[in-house]
Amino acid sequence: MASQTGSIVQQSLQALMGDAAFLPNLQDQAREQAFLSLAAILSTPNKVHKAFLRITLDSGNVVRIPAYRIQHNDTLGPYKGGIRFHESVNEEEVTNLAALMTLKNALHEVPFGGGKGGVVINPRTYSAKELYLICKKYVQYFSDVLGPDKDIPAPDMGTGEREMDWMMSEYKSIHPGHPYLGSFTGKSILNGGSLGRREATGKGVYFTFRHMLHDFLKGQSGWLSGSTNPFVRTALAHADRPLSVAVQGFGNVGSVAALEAYKCTYLHNKVVAVSDRSVTLYNPDGLPVPALADYAARHQGDLPATEAALAELDPKAQLLGREDVLYLDVDVLILAALEEQVRKDNVGRVKARIIVEGANAPVTGEADAALAERGTIVIPDILANAGGVIVSYFEWLQGRETQFFTEEHIYSMLYDKMQKTLNAILPAFFGDPRPLRQHCYIHAVMKLSAALYRQGKLY
Ligand code: GLU
Repeated sequence: MASQTGSIVQQSLQALMGDAAFLPNLQDQAREQAFLSLAAILSTPNKVHKAFLRITLDSGNVVRIPAYRIQHNDTLGPYKGGIRFHESVNEEEVTNLAALMTLKNALHEVPFGGGKGGVVINPRTYSAKELYLICKKYVQYFSDVLGPDKDIPAPDMGTGEREMDWMMSEYKSIHPGHPYLGSFTGKSILNGGSLGRREATGKGVYFTFRHMLHDFLKGQSGWLSGSTNPFVRTALAHADRPLSVAVQGFGNVGSVAALEAYKCTYLHNKVVAVSDRSVTLYNPDGLPVPALADYAARHQGDLPATEAALAELDPKAQLLGREDVLYLDVDVLILAALEEQVRKDNVGRVKARIIVEGANAPVTGEADAALAERGTIVIPDILANAGGVIVSYFEWLQGRETQFFTEEHIYSMLYDKMQKTLNAILPAFFGDPRPLRQHCYIHAVMKLSAALYRQGKLY
């Protein structure tokens, strides 16, 4: 497990060790032993699967492409987590992301464990036919370890419903006569996908921020007003006033989160910046996010990146460098692009006082510590971006019953679930000076530990 997740799991276990109400049957040496076992179990994946997919390219050349499926932990249910197609994929990264899935599912009481997959390619440089072959081969190589009750992949960076449909279809061919709808989530609606799945992560990201800073705080200002906790001071300074929002990443997560912020009618959140892999667009008076989303939909997901392309836009935007989105003078920064965007070397330039992790692990451990020191609130990935896996769970359930819910029902179930988690975490967060990420980890590790103990896994 990469260092940040590993060390926060260790810290969470230490905090739980000192909490006599947690696993009260365990005392002294037995308690110490159980906590060492927990640390060992949660800091390593159960299984690491690696393959070199043999693909014949359109050119006729045969290549071998490294691919992974990492199964971190299945204490709470079958392994679950996306498959990413990206050229920087490596075993350590996928293992860390699989561990995050274990914690994310435990935190939100989604009855799954944690897994993650990856293929080392830049999907933009492959034809649709080559990508189809890669998807088929991925399922062929890992077919024994995947399945609706074993391990259920979903989209992640560089993959979407097209890839899930291809993969599900290959799974179905390899396992004739077996249930297959629950083998992959994030499929197209035509192939048994769920309404609302594509928008779920972005909607959940904005909902988490909105619920925490507005709905939840509204009833709490009485007892919080005298607090000297730096995170409480930051939250109160941003409650009940217009906020400027910048969004890094304009893909599936960032574009939807930006649209949600733009459309939110009862709060005055102004989206002043959005960015993608080549550009940041900035207008302190607010950007026309729906027009930008339309533009991106017509241009393979890219934002207008030249003055000529921007000419039609009203109101006008300023063109800045792709990284500039991180350093703007805004209240809220939603990180919905890649991991490790805010690091030790650039954290000093980040001005936003509220950071929302729409991507997985966009803030490194060192940067996280520096932000906490300043009282900047970081709403962590496992809390904020769980909308995708929550609706994946609804998709899996619908596939089992072959009964499909309306979009309205899906969103209402999604928000109920996220709100329940937030209401379990936020009172502790506002009452105690530890960062929100730490509270989320403690909560998740506590659930996993109690289940592992009761399953007899600590002896
Ligand atoms: N890839 C998404 C995540 O990181 C969704 C996973 C899923 O739906 O299983 O949470």
